[in-house]
Amino acid sequence: MKPKIKWTPQRLAILKYLDGNKEHPSAEDIYAALSKDFPTMSVATVYNVIEFLKRTGRVKEIYIDHEKRRFDPDITTHHHAICIKCKKVFDIFSDIEIPELSNQVPDFQILDTQITIYVLCSQCKDKEDLKLGFKEYQCIDCGSIRTAKHKPQKCPSCGKRGSLKEFKNQKQ
Ligand code: ZN
Ligand code: MN
Repeated sequence: MKPKIKWTPQRLAILKYLDGNKEHPSAEDIYAALSKDFPTMSVATVYNVIEFLKRTGRVKEIYIDHEKRRFDPDITTHHHAICIKCKKVFDIFSDIEIPELSNQVPDFQILDTQITIYVLCSQCKDKEDLKLGFKEYQCIDCGSIRTAKHKPQKCPSCGKRGSLKEFKNQKQ
């Protein structure tokens, strides 16, 4: 007979916090979110509970952030992109096939493939572009948008001359 799981209030609270959570939080994040309601909780408690949740197949660890261990309540197979600036982790659910992979390790059986994509997310990219003096220019003719330091003489997409106007970004 399987031993009965003891659902302590802390275990339940952490499970509830993780349920449907898309942030891929670290133990420290979980602690910060719950310690107000559970003053006796420590980061070590959170790690213990996470180990328990991992063992019982409710959470998986993703090896993506070199500074913090990150956890994912979505245990289905999927890939991740991480922004190197803000450390946000994004889910990628499409199948990414690496056709050559089995040729690289012909004697091995491949069990699992996880792809990590390092990115600047769109918000951090915008900030970075601004810092570097880049601006967005939109072609009034074909509508395509170009990021550049100086206004291009002609539209790189349709080739029209003098059609680019500075584009005011609506994104925050
Ligand atoms: Zn970012
Ligand atoms: Mn995920």
